[in-house]
Amino acid sequence: MEEKRELKPESLMMSYGYKPELSEGALKCPIFQTSTFVFKKAEDGKAFFELAYGQREKYPNEELGLIYSRLNNPDLEILENRLTLWDRAEACAVFESGMSAISTTLLEFVKPGHLLLFSSPVYGGSDHFIKHVLTRFGVHIMGFMAGESKEELIRKVEATGKPLAMVYVETPANPTNGLFDIEMCREVADHFSNEEHKAYVAVDNTYMGPLWQHPLQHGADLVLYSATKYIGGHSDVVAGACLGSAALIQRVKTLRTFLGCMAGPWTAWLLMRSLETLKPRMELQARNAEKVAQFLAGHPKVEKVYYLGFLQENDPQYPIYQKQLKSAGAMLSFDVKGGEKDAFNFLNHLKLVKLAVSLGSTESLAQHPATMTHADVSKEDKAQLGISAKMIRLSVGVEDAEDLIWDLGQALQHV
Ligand SMILES: *Cc1c(COP(=O)(O)O)cnc(C)c1O
Repeated sequence: MEEKRELKPESLMMSYGYKPELSEGALKCPIFQTSTFVFKKAEDGKAFFELAYGQREKYPNEELGLIYSRLNNPDLEILENRLTLWDRAEACAVFESGMSAISTTLLEFVKPGHLLLFSSPVYGGSDHFIKHVLTRFGVHIMGFMAGESKEELIRKVEATGKPLAMVYVETPANPTNGLFDIEMCREVADHFSNEEHKAYVAVDNTYMGPLWQHPLQHGADLVLYSATKYIGGHSDVVAGACLGSAALIQRVKTLRTFLGCMAGPWTAWLLMRSLETLKPRMELQARNAEKVAQFLAGHPKVEKVYYLGFLQENDPQYPIYQKQLKSAGAMLSFDVKGGEKDAFNFLNHLKLVKLAVSLGSTESLAQHPATMTHADVSKEDKAQLGISAKMIRLSVGVEDAEDLIWDLGQALQHV
């Protein structure tokens, strides 16, 4: 038998990074509900601040001491260490929302006069931040769609004459499950990088992470999460995360300190609790989604099902699916036969599945993208992306699959 073994993330989620002897032997990490920490002596306070403000390099084996909960807190640090295991990241920063993780990261890596290239569609909040906030600070922006080639993207970026700051990608796209090739985005960013200027690749991995897609392994510099979704997984907490190399996350954490959008100890504690069951939850959700997708695909009131598990080998997206994803996930959309009235009739007659936005939670959720999550998307973009009045988005939970199928079937009778 091997002496040492590299344990799987799911085996470490109950204990990693926590030392009971530092907390009266408590088996579980307590909630460190404190704003500030006592220094043993003034010299320690001085040393901690030197590190926190980057005034000197760390000594060998030196760790940043606890100062103040906007800078660090044991719950936050242990959670961040645990989250790095899934993506095999060097470092992680956790935030009080997915939006604060995304906005802080974008602000850190884009500059006035530089270009942000972003996949379309992106999450509504990200879309608004990119189009209406970043542009106020003189950042140039340009969208791109699934299926555009590397050569086309390079040509488009060159035509702007602006330095490329970042390629920002959300894959699979919501709610259409369109796939973007992360390796290709890396190649585009590298094409515009040199000794003096580096273009970064950031991936919003909320839909598939941290279990089924690992963007850092495909060349991304940064991976972002709304931890409100699968990571939290119980629809009871709003949070976000950014992961990457120690050097890049240090930059993100420094801006986080001054924006003050770190997660508090209670949020961090809830997420640690959620992480213990992350893998079994997500696996069951994916198994349920496959059964639900099969049922919908064979139903006479359903026109089309958007589910990654149905990608055909001759589809141009198939090689990306094979290379990038470990599962078809638990998010699917479908078009009912009819229009908005039929879609609403379906939603209004659901008994077990809840009518609500958000995703990735233990309970199944259904919503109407055209008038809800994507209400803000222009008519032309909706038409191009296939977000129509007959589309329903479903986030599949951990309920019994046959119960879910029964509920969807009885609600479909009203279409
Ligand atoms: C929910 C979501 C966000 C925003 O996260 P919040 O936690 O609501 O701030 C960003 N990206 C994606 C893909 C999301 O689903």
